[in-house]
Amino acid sequence: MDTQYRQLEQNGGESIEIQKKQNYSSSFLEQNHSYANMLSILDTCAEKLGVCWDDYAPLRYPERELTVSIPVEMDDGHIKIFVGYRVQHSSVRGPCKGGLRYSSDVDLDEVRTLAALMTWKCAVVNIPYGGAKGGVQCDPGELSSRELMRITRRYTAMILPLIGPQKDVPAPDMNTNAQVMGWIMDTYSMFKGFTVPGVVTGKPIEIGGSLGREEATGRGVLFTINQIALKKGVDLRRASFAVQGFGKVGGIVARLLYQEGYRIVAISDVSGGIYKEDGLDIMDVSNYVKENPSHLIEGYRAEGVLPLTNQELLTLEVDILVPAARENQITEDNAGDIKARIIVEAANGPITPEADQILSERSIIVVPDILSNAGGVVVSYLEWVQNIQSLMWDERKVNAFLRKIMERSFQEVWELQEQKQVTLREAAYMLALDRTIKARKIRGNFP
Ligand code: NAD
Repeated sequence: MDTQYRQLEQNGGESIEIQKKQNYSSSFLEQNHSYANMLSILDTCAEKLGVCWDDYAPLRYPERELTVSIPVEMDDGHIKIFVGYRVQHSSVRGPCKGGLRYSSDVDLDEVRTLAALMTWKCAVVNIPYGGAKGGVQCDPGELSSRELMRITRRYTAMILPLIGPQKDVPAPDMNTNAQVMGWIMDTYSMFKGFTVPGVVTGKPIEIGGSLGREEATGRGVLFTINQIALKKGVDLRRASFAVQGFGKVGGIVARLLYQEGYRIVAISDVSGGIYKEDGLDIMDVSNYVKENPSHLIEGYRAEGVLPLTNQELLTLEVDILVPAARENQITEDNAGDIKARIIVEAANGPITPEADQILSERSIIVVPDILSNAGGVVVSYLEWVQNIQSLMWDERKVNAFLRKIMERSFQEVWELQEQKQVTLREAAYMLALDRTIKARKIRGNFP
């Protein structure tokens, strides 16, 4: 990491292709695949936008990164050390904002990449935030609730200098939830000596959470699906859907689509998937998952329902595919087999750049994550606004605001892709880059 940071930007006039080689050593990029992938998209878009290298270069680097060790007393009395991260990619447009994920394979490269995606996401939907992300290497499935609480509280204490309502505001992501946010808020408040609801979003309603936040990411995906269907003339009443992932995002997307009366032929989670040609009863599956001790789809049985693997789900012949589980699900290995007409990315980074290229050549439309799953951060912003002003809005107001922002952002990205003749992903990145570079230029380069 250090080697590439030491190589500072020099020549203002050369192309981004030449400049980027001078600025990141190949060993850094080899060790940081996800970040390198993000940069490759960003560089392409910066080139297409024709930005000045000096304006752009600082945005290729995360502003601040913290790795912490988290000693935790386990239920059996012994101490186990966990590793955690918080990365702030950019605070150019406002306080850093981004989720916290718990996963046994989370690493700095992943967190750094997701932090950058948050910068671009907040800029696409034009809310006054920068980007951040956090992660703790642990498997929540193997931890008791008390162990999870102790990990969360110690992690919060370790990253305390970085977070705060005006500095960096965590939120739920993979394997974290409203309860985890409640523990963070309480720990932070205990250190401060007074209650600070605005330090996290996605909290329980009882301690300052916003109505509509739990469903916000899924609802934003639904608004996005409506928009792309309108543009491409897809009749959603006749369309078929497949949704990968049945958690906070995928589970809600599937439920909202089902409540609209749409036909979801397949869903899956980490345990595998299920398929029914004339449409699954999503409420029945949701109830099953809620009551199943593992909280997974595995073991679900109903008439006409067939099992299928995650790989089979991704390559089903459907109109709209919604990957809502995790990153790198559609790769160069399976992109050629995708049969969906439209992919709406609900997870972060579910399609690798190589796969993106293949899908684009095959004229499969991809609505990018930084646009389609931004509903979560939009309502996080609304929660933070309510916290700061001690207000409590009703759900209708929150959902109306979310709809307005999602539709406006979609339209802006759509117009830019038409104007520049680029993909929707490129247009979203170009819009985000343009806004962030403008903000940086106005602020100037400190000192
Ligand atoms: P979650 O932990 O609630 O759910 C994840 C789901 O994916 C679960 O159903 C899990 O079983 C499934 N899954 C995990 N590994 C899988 C695999 N290898 N194959 C198939 N399914 C698998 O997490 P979430 O909050 O729903 O997040 C899902 C994705 O959406 C992540 O990429 C996250 O970064 C992104 N995202 C989340 C939010 C949010 O508000 N929670 C907002 C924007 C983006």
